[in-house]
Amino acid sequence: MAKNVLIVGGGLSGTIVANGLCRQLGNEMRNNEVSITMLGATDTHMYQPGLLYLPFGRIRESELFRDQRKVLDRRVPYHIDPAKQIDVEGNQVVTESGKTYSYDYLVIATGSRIRPENVPGMEEGAHWFYDLEGARKMRDALEAFEGGKIVVNVNAPHKCPVAPLEITFMLHDYLSGRGLMDKTEITYTYPIGRLHALEPVAMWTQPEFDKYGIKYETFFNTKEVDPAAKTISSEEEVTLPYDLLVTIPPHSGAQVIEDSDLGAGGWVPTGRESLLREGSENVFVVGDTTNIPISKAGSTAHFEADTIIDNIASLCTEGRWARNYDGKVFCFIETGMSTGTYVWFNYTTPPNPGPPSQMLHWFKLAYNRMYWLSARGLL
Ligand SMILES: Cc1cc2nc3c(=O)[nH]c(=O)nc-3n(C[C@H](O)[C@H](O)[C@H](O)COP(=O)(O)OP(=O)(O)OC[C@H]3O[C@@H](n4cnc5c(N)ncnc54)[C@H](O)[C@@H]3O)c2cc1C
Repeated sequence: MAKNVLIVGGGLSGTIVANGLCRQLGNEMRNNEVSITMLGATDTHMYQPGLLYLPFGRIRESELFRDQRKVLDRRVPYHIDPAKQIDVEGNQVVTESGKTYSYDYLVIATGSRIRPENVPGMEEGAHWFYDLEGARKMRDALEAFEGGKIVVNVNAPHKCPVAPLEITFMLHDYLSGRGLMDKTEITYTYPIGRLHALEPVAMWTQPEFDKYGIKYETFFNTKEVDPAAKTISSEEEVTLPYDLLVTIPPHSGAQVIEDSDLGAGGWVPTGRESLLREGSENVFVVGDTTNIPISKAGSTAHFEADTIIDNIASLCTEGRWARNYDGKVFCFIETGMSTGTYVWFNYTTPPNPGPPSQMLHWFKLAYNRMYWLSARGLL
């Protein structure tokens, strides 16, 4: 019996899984022993990490997008027909158009989305760079900015755990370059009692912020934004005035996850090593949509995808499990417009950011350019 692999979600992790399986299962696909199908929501694939550079005019919008079918191996049929109900008991997915796709192995790769509407006043009063429209507006606001109070407000959960640090360092450097830092104050807020969820990263960040005179407010869980008064307040009853508010909005998972009762908030309960949905033996979960308490990042998605490729290929051909995910994550961190550092860690090794350098910034830029090779599974 031919095995059907169904992938829901054509972003970074779903695409890496599809392309990697094609590489490993080429013979089986040729012999009609394995088929791979993908369901997606749009015909374009967005290179999300590039959004960090858009507000500073450091990337063109056209560099952010590719035709999803061109990024995907041509042996994988791609249907722009979003999943509406995922039935893990019946091994099938019903789409928005009413079609039903059955599977032997399912890969849920539906990612995460920003929810500024969940905080009163945030949509009206804040800027963000986590989607195209937001990054465009932030670019305009930055161009018009002539000095004043900037609040960088971080809400959880969110993807790319280092992006809030990066935007803060980049704002400082960009405004210094425009001669505006002597009349600008930057305050960074974070919901827990330190500057980053990962303690070593928090410890590294504090002296870096102190060096640049960046202020911070910890234990700041956003309650509301008042766009008229230009203030942001926390549950802890701290109110900060702002001239420019840059927020990392809270995120949730995809609607279909909640609609299918697969996880509160759209986060699917997932085995941290197996990457199997809890309670399923043929449903893998990859990327932002897992509930595993590690960074929601492209590199996490990539390393998880590699593990899932090995396991599905091994299960299809030999009926056996190949290997577990070790929690590996690797992220470059921009520490200004021309310096950077990096962190890597896994379930047993904590992160250890080193001193920033120009070379590491260039490595990040080179790595950015290789995103499309990553998505194709060539890196
Ligand atoms: C500003 C910014 C900077 C970032 N910087 C970095 C960085 O430097 N390094 C790093 O490692 N990561 C970075 N990331 C994070 C990284 O982009 C994400 O973690 C990564 O894309 C997650 O991959 P994913 O496949 O889980 O989700 P996505 O790539 O978001 O893909 C999810 C896909 O599922 C589709 N989908 C949703 N619902 C359905 C449905 N019902 N049916 C079918 N399809 C559906 C969506 O349309 C989407 O195509 C950054 C993100 C942002 C926004």
